[in-house]
Amino acid sequence: MNDKVLIFDTTLRDGEQSAGTAMTVEEKVEIAKQLERLGVDVIEAGFPISSKGDFEAVQSVAREVRAPIVAALSHCRDAAIDRAAEALKDAAHPRIHLFLSSSDNHLMNQLRKNREEVVEMAVSAIRRARSYVDDVEFSPMDSSRTDRDFLAHLVRAAIDAGATTINIPDTVGYAAPGEFAALLEHLREQAPELGESVRLSVHCHDDLGMAVANSLAAVKAGARQVEGCINGIGERAGNCALEEVIMALRTRSDYFGADTDVDTKQLYATSRLVSQITGFAVQPNKAIVGRNAFRHASGIHQDGLIKDRSTYEIIDPVSVGVPRSELVLSKLSGSRGLRARLTELGYAVTDEQLPAVYEQFKELADKKREVTDRDLMALMSGHVSAIEQTYSLEHVQVTCGTREVPTATVTIKAADGGALYTDAATGDGPVDAVYKAINRIVREPNQLTEFSVNAVTEGNDAVGEVSIRIERDGRTYIGRGADTDIIVASGKAYMAALNRLLAMGGQAAPAAEAAATVG
Ligand code: MN
Repeated sequence: MNDKVLIFDTTLRDGEQSAGTAMTVEEKVEIAKQLERLGVDVIEAGFPISSKGDFEAVQSVAREVRAPIVAALSHCRDAAIDRAAEALKDAAHPRIHLFLSSSDNHLMNQLRKNREEVVEMAVSAIRRARSYVDDVEFSPMDSSRTDRDFLAHLVRAAIDAGATTINIPDTVGYAAPGEFAALLEHLREQAPELGESVRLSVHCHDDLGMAVANSLAAVKAGARQVEGCINGIGERAGNCALEEVIMALRTRSDYFGADTDVDTKQLYATSRLVSQITGFAVQPNKAIVGRNAFRHASGIHQDGLIKDRSTYEIIDPVSVGVPRSELVLSKLSGSRGLRARLTELGYAVTDEQLPAVYEQFKELADKKREVTDRDLMALMSGHVSAIEQTYSLEHVQVTCGTREVPTATVTIKAADGGALYTDAATGDGPVDAVYKAINRIVREPNQLTEFSVNAVTEGNDAVGEVSIRIERDGRTYIGRGADTDIIVASGKAYMAALNRLLAMGGQAAPAAEAAATVG
């Protein structure tokens, strides 16, 4: 009988701390709902005292998801704890997650407190949190660089004060697996409740590429909660990649003697959704969810697979929800068939959304004979966001070539009133010309900081997916677009980023008076 390991997902909190992410509250709720389908045990939705956006995100996630525990992060100060409790008021299963520095390095350089003062702060914070909720997690920050005996003393005091989960973070990604396991064993000797009446958790960072290895070594040493993020995103080099931990436990439960309750068939769709919303592509060779994770190139391996898949395959791709690559739909497919396939891929399409999605599907099916799962996922990338569309790109026409000056004409429709604006511009290249033409109409100053194109499918009629980042006043806005024409995809991505900027950042400037209004 396997022990159960709880999966604590912090994609919405630590993951969002990745440089260059900017998620709206609606997008966080969308990810949270997918995490609920995946079957994670805890969703850390934000750090309520840190900003109004984080407070609202925790509050909305607490209202929208029912099965998982919803955790709010807080430091050990009264105002922060009160704010966390307030954000969690409507949660079915609320948890306050308290953190406090424990290493001498952090105590001296950052907190400027002595060890006994830190213990007192932790104890009083845990008691206050317990006055609001029964489920309180305590994390001594920078545990892996903390004096072991002091750490044990602090953990002992935290348990006595009422902490129900003790989380040992390798905050700076410094630990090595054997050493980290030994630290946990030491703590369990000093505080025998750990792993028994008090849950032992770990939170590892990937600065030395060992986050997953350290987390798994911790499970072997008795940890029964692993924290991490989908696709391993997060601060600096990121957090422990949850999909890897989940599949390692599932595939090697014979060794670990532990498993999770996760529905692994939802892993691929979850990975895609997080990648789409954060704008961080998944590297092709990434374990479990990378594009090449189940592709075999060696002739000897292919020969073995034909004879028996187990020769070179330890995980069935179907078990993690990797879509089949064969033809699924064509222009003759109906909207019900489309919706059924999208549901299988992890996209929940509402009745209101379906007609627009189907319309786009038919447009795509007109250009491409065969619409594959990957095409569908690219198509859905424009739908994942609940961002208000101030403008939409109606028409793009570009001329370019070896001699011509790249010139673009674009038509943009305003959602409010439906007015159409057309303008033209030249540029250094076709994409630049399109962006300049859009700028002449929308007039929202910004800087393009990142631009990437990915072919979603193989072949000449492949769908191209463009992902961009624009910046204004130090804030980043992500935009994505997909089309069989990469210039059109680029225009859609830019329009999406501008809509996001308008929705999150500022007011829409009136569309340029000079732009010709077309019928
Ligand atoms: Mn962290």
